[in-house]
Formats: sequence, C-alpha cells, structure tokens
Amino acid sequence: MFFSRARMTSEFELIEKYFSQQPVRRDDVIIGVGDDGAVLRTPADRDLVVSTDTLVEGVHFIKDCAPPDLGYRALAVNLSDLAAMGAEPAWVTLAITAPSSEESWFRDFSRGFFELAAAHGVQLVGGNLARGPLSVTVAVHGFVPRGRVLRRNGAQVGDVIFVTGTLGDAALGLQIARGEGAKNFGAEKLRQRYLRPTPRLNEGLALREVASACIDVSDGLLADLGHIVDQSGVGAALELAQLPLSTEFRQLWTGDWSVPLFGGDDYELCFTVPPGRADKVSSQVNATRIGAIEAQSGIRCVREDRSVWIPERRGYDHFR
Ligand code: ADP
Ligand code: MG
Repeated sequence: MFFSRARMTSEFELIEKYFSQQPVRRDDVIIGVGDDGAVLRTPADRDLVVSTDTLVEGVHFIKDCAPPDLGYRALAVNLSDLAAMGAEPAWVTLAITAPSSEESWFRDFSRGFFELAAAHGVQLVGGNLARGPLSVTVAVHGFVPRGRVLRRNGAQVGDVIFVTGTLGDAALGLQIARGEGAKNFGAEKLRQRYLRPTPRLNEGLALREVASACIDVSDGLLADLGHIVDQSGVGAALELAQLPLSTEFRQLWTGDWSVPLFGGDDYELCFTVPPGRADKVSSQVNATRIGAIEAQSGIRCVREDRSVWIPERRGYDHFR
C-alpha cells in the first residue's frame, strides 16, 4: 500500500532529506549522522544503558501500518526499555529495511519518529538503510547515575507489586487496528494505545529511588512479572480485582481476564517496592498496587472471592 515502484530515490538522498534534519541537537554528540560512525561523549559519573529492538511487519506491527505511527512506535518501544531501567535517554540509531525507496514513506516515517524523539530530547546519531521485507531496528542509549540502574532481579518477599497506567488497552487496540472491533470514541483511544504507546520515562526516573525491581510490560503482565519473579528467585500473588482497567477498555471488554493478564504491547512499567516505601509510591508516580511478592515460586491470581487461579501459561499468544 505504501510502497510503489514508481520513483526510486537513492539511499544517500533519503538519509540527507529525512534523517539528517534533526529536531534535537545535543552537546554530547561530537559526530552524528554522516560519517562512518557516530562519536558520542559519555559523562564520567554515569553508566551508559543500551537497548535494541527490531520490529518486523506482520509480527511486531500490522501490515499497512501508517508510516508516522510506525516511526513513533519503533522509537517508543525502545524508549520503554530505557524507562524500565530508570535511564534518561540521549541517543538513538535507526536501521530500516524497506522494499523500495518510496519517498513519501520515509518522509512520513521520519515525521512520527522525530515527533517522539523531540519530546524526549533524543538525538538520532546514525543508522542504516537496506532493501528487503519491511523491518525497523532501533537502538537507544541513555544514562543512569553510577550504580543506580533498575533491574529485574531485586524483588524481595513482602515487596508490593505496582503497575503504571492501565492494562489490556493495547490488546484490544490491536484488534481494533486490524478492523475487528467497534468504532466508537473509546475504540479510537484503544487503537492509539496500541499504535503509539507512551514510554513511561518520567516514572522510570522517579522509581530509581524507590523500586526494588522493574520491567516494562511488552509481552503481557504475567509474562513480564514472570521475569521479575524468576530472576529474583521469588513468586507473586496478583489481586485480579485491583488490576487497573481504563473506562474505554471496560466498555469493550467481555470480562476475559486473559486480556489484561496476557495481552502485550501496553508498555507500562511493572515494579516492586519494599513495604515501608509502598505508601509513598502513589504520590510519586501514577501507579496501582496489584499484589505482593511471596516466597513460593510462580504467580498466583487471587479472585475477588479469594479463590486462587494459577494460569498454566504466561506467554503472549492470545492475540497473535
Ligand atoms: P557506511 O556505508 O559507512 O556504513 P552508510 O552509507 O550506511 O555508511 O550511512 C552513511 C551515514 O548515514 C552514516 O553516518 C549512517 O550512520 C547514517 N545513516 C544511514 N542510515 C540512516 C538512518 N536511517 N538514520 C540515520 N542515519 C542513517
Ligand atoms: Mg563506512
């Protein structure tokens, strides 16, 4: 839909026109786009956090995804990883494989990408263009004060489990984006939650002083909380009635708990906090208490009537 064979633009023209004009210029970028490599100045008192993610058409985003949404989303899911580490983003590289050099596609993609880059002061410092099936790889770089990074492995028995924002919106939003759902006002908001996730960067920074473990919810709450409990050598009890669900979500939800539990793509932060600090959390970040860390391994879901359900799987397959 977005690629035709009508007019081919050279790789260098595309880089010059769409990836060299920067909304953000940072002092710590000595050499950015244009040479064989970027040269970046790292502060002596901070640790560098690096993360990369590839998005493949039909796997990580829908076929015929509007290019501005794809540009936005490719950066957003990467910034979300920095948020989960408590890092402040600085630089990004971008490698695109596309079936043709359709100019309007690159123009619109870069618009969405730079919209989010500008919002967080992130500078694009290099990348690559290649021909092939559509896929986008982004690598982000950010900083934390030395030794202050948030990890997955620090949860302790008795810690309180929180999640930012709301869960399940993106899973319903994906169905709507595929044309499988209602088209009321709430549906549009859910669709946007899928297409343009909000990386919780400010929350991540605030949590550095507070959380014992943190992860971003990309594969679904159970899968990602599963990483925290496995890597921390603990287990968890989740209170189903406490899961934060948006008004728009509730309007379309059938009541199936697997949607907020297994549905991916929300990019909220799930984190644990020692009980003594838990009361302060809601004043620092917009987050909801959803359970507690226990000694027994695995994740137990506790229903409102206190009956317990132990999901057999954690993974994200319900919406694939
Ligand atoms: P080389 O052949 O030396 O690897 P390229 O011709 O691939 O270099 O790229 C030329 C310059 O343009 C490099 O600085 C590279 O980082 C940058 N670049 C290439 N593609 C992109 C892109 N999609 N976004 C930003 N910079 C890019
Ligand atoms: Mg080179």
